[in-house]
Amino acid sequence: MAILLPGGAGYIGSHTAVELLNAGKEIIIIDNFSNSKPEVIDKIKQITGKDFKFYEVDCLDRQSLEKVFEENDIDAVINFAGFKAVGESVKEPLKYYHNNITGAVVLLQTMQKYGVKKFVFSSSATVYGDRGKEIKYVETMKRGETTNPYGTTKSMIEKILEDVYFADNDWDIALLRYFNPVGAHESGLIGENPQGIPNNLMPYIMKVANKELDHLNIFGNDYKETKDGTGARDFLHVVDLAKGHLKALEKLEKEKSGLYVYNLGTGTPYTVQEMVDTFKRTNNVDVPYEYVGRRAGDLPIFYADSTKAKKELDWTAEKTLEDMCKDSWNYIKQMEKNKGE
Ligand code: NAD
Ligand code: UDP
Repeated sequence: MAILLPGGAGYIGSHTAVELLNAGKEIIIIDNFSNSKPEVIDKIKQITGKDFKFYEVDCLDRQSLEKVFEENDIDAVINFAGFKAVGESVKEPLKYYHNNITGAVVLLQTMQKYGVKKFVFSSSATVYGDRGKEIKYVETMKRGETTNPYGTTKSMIEKILEDVYFADNDWDIALLRYFNPVGAHESGLIGENPQGIPNNLMPYIMKVANKELDHLNIFGNDYKETKDGTGARDFLHVVDLAKGHLKALEKLEKEKSGLYVYNLGTGTPYTVQEMVDTFKRTNNVDVPYEYVGRRAGDLPIFYADSTKAKKELDWTAEKTLEDMCKDSWNYIKQMEKNKGE
């Protein structure tokens, strides 16, 4: 019985593939490489020393998707496939609604057709919306008003999955709400390296440290809600996050059916300033920065109440902020080295 990973060549999917293979699971990856590269597949094999099937398939392509289900004995699906750039989603909402929502619906319909009912979904803390003074998000809170089309796709897919479960209680579904994943595999072989100018903090810091960009803009240093005035987030090492998927899968394997929601975060917020200072100190590199105005739509601070995942999944994030900074930088250095060879 295999676990299907749509979008498994991407940042979080590739790290999850490694953890699943290391735990002895059989996996199949499908990806259309819209935001990843074919060499990631080889890197996953290199890290784990294990082989697996890969199909270059788009989740919107029903026929090809059905072929994958036809040819394999699939037990569960962990869906990473989707577009994730917040700014782009504001400019091109239909692209996001089509790829993320239609893609998920076609996938779920295919699963239904082949009687596969275990599904893990990559959701996001963004579904909580702006909650004002409530900065520690707990799963019992209702989903809030999302602030961009990307976030809305996450919220809508959660709702779709609730409806699917309501209509047929045989489904066994886990909604995983990620906080801020950063870092890379300690081998330095897989990680996150967005094309062009990054939007997110860690990839931006990495490009500044690597002198591809000359300085970091820190968006706001006057937030009253944080310890040093810069924004704060629940940064989480991607390997810890990947392990959370293994735990969620084991939960679904244990339970016959159900709909489960988990925050995956460390439960500790760190500020942008702390992240920059830690990156500099840990890696002994310079990261020039300037304070600029707040970024539109940014919340001052939010973080996970991570007690439910600890209690029900026996999962806690173990890696430190130093690990996140060290492994991110190691990934960039390894890439540079490979380019030079
Ligand atoms: P990523 O872009 O690195 O990975 C997504 C993968 O899906 C890519 O390999 C891409 O090529 C593939 N893909 C996209 N559309 C596809 C389609 N129609 N058919 C087949 N493959 C397709 O992103 P990531 O950071 O690994 O995120 C994985 C999931 O987690 C996404 O759904 C994302 O929205 C969600 N998420 C990410 C974060 C984050 O900060 N990285 C936070 C919360 C939630
Ligand atoms: N941030 C920043 N400069 C950047 C990118 C991000 O100061 O170039 C800040 C941002 O304002 C927020 C934090 O870093 O307080 C995390 O931002 P990111 O985009 O990584 O995550 P998100 O806002 O989606 O949680």
